Amino acid sequence: MVKAPKNIAVIGATGSIGTQTLEIIDSHPELYRVTVMAAGSKVDKLIELARHHRPSLAVIADVTKYNALRDALEPLGIETAAGEHALCDAVCRDDVDMVVTATVGYSGLAPTIAAIKSGKDIALANKETLVVAGKYITSLLEKSNSQIYPVDSEHSAIYQCLEGEKRENVKKLIITASGGPFRTWTADRIAKATASDALRHPNWSMGAKITIDSATMMNKAFEIIEAKWLFGFEADEIEAVVHPQSIVHSMVEFNDGAIKAQLGLPDMKLPIAYALGEGKRLKGAEKPLSITDFATLTFERPDAGRFPCLSLAHEALTRGGNSACVINAANEIAVAEFLAGNIGFNDIYKIIEKTLSEITFIENPDYQDFVTTNNEARVFASSLC
Ligand code: NDP
Ligand code: MG
Repeated sequence: MVKAPKNIAVIGATGSIGTQTLEIIDSHPELYRVTVMAAGSKVDKLIELARHHRPSLAVIADVTKYNALRDALEPLGIETAAGEHALCDAVCRDDVDMVVTATVGYSGLAPTIAAIKSGKDIALANKETLVVAGKYITSLLEKSNSQIYPVDSEHSAIYQCLEGEKRENVKKLIITASGGPFRTWTADRIAKATASDALRHPNWSMGAKITIDSATMMNKAFEIIEAKWLFGFEADEIEAVVHPQSIVHSMVEFNDGAIKAQLGLPDMKLPIAYALGEGKRLKGAEKPLSITDFATLTFERPDAGRFPCLSLAHEALTRGGNSACVINAANEIAVAEFLAGNIGFNDIYKIIEKTLSEITFIENPDYQDFVTTNNEARVFASSLC
């Protein structure tokens, strides 16, 4: 019997991960069909993509853009909706089998929770969801049929390395980091870095927010937190190493001394396809790696002196509660202000540190506590800019 294509909701369809996901779906109509597409505010791009991919429903988070979406798509028989609630309703529809969370920042939390509660599988790109509320999300998953498949390349690599292995044989997870554009820069030079310097990532082409997070190494701190909640390891069992070539996507070390790694070109197509396929390999998902072109692969310890954001992972995990939610909110504000040219590069860390020391600690936050913490931390961080 021929299996029907899997119905996919792409939340953040207009972004870097979203458009690459749509390209994979487009090349494999026998496997996948887009039924829901959602974006933040770029309504023209969403309309263009919806005209091509013909989902059943298109959603725009920014309600002021709704009329343009409706007028363009309803004549084509595509349903339209707007707002955060519409996003949450969209992922729960009967014609959705898997949700790709490719939205950026805190905005991923509510739709991911809705998807888990309605038992949908998730291809998780939006790491901020696990940073903000990892413990809460883990407890929801225990009560749901929903499965999370990592899209982040490091976590996809770890997931691939853990296949067929017993948890008790694993000693540690080794997450690789490119080191970002300032890996070789002196502290004085980093202090004067501009947004255009920070946006020049040496290996990966990604959205602006994650590119700045890579430059501060906050992205690696977030990935340590993400790995804890995805794979159930403690902070001292997860190590970050700098690997400037971005060929080894991450590693797992075992108790017998063996280390397994997954290698590939810096291309998100493979991890996205692996998540869409729930761990099944898609032939030709990315360009093959010619290993002799990368005869030298190097590894070095990260420098927490020049990149203090990295240490925030262990601080957040040691404190627990709503700490990582505060860090995420302050980081989102600081990154936006840095991109707008309003603050310096090193102010990003200072704003996060100050916000973390000011916002009330909540040991066992529920969903409403995350909403309140996120709002308070944003207001406080903005007041510092
Ligand atoms: P982009 O900035 O390229 O895209 C973000 C997407 O989210 C856009 O479609 C945007 O819509 C949408 N969006 C923004 N705000 C909202 C909102 N309030 N509600 C709904 N949708 C919203 O980001 P990336 O694709 O780079 O990153 C997406 C996620 O994937 C992030 O969490 C990132 O950390 C993670 N990730 C990304 C990687 C990459 O290679 N890019 C690698 C690993 C992880 P609009 O265009 O309308 O603004
Ligand atoms: Mg990553």
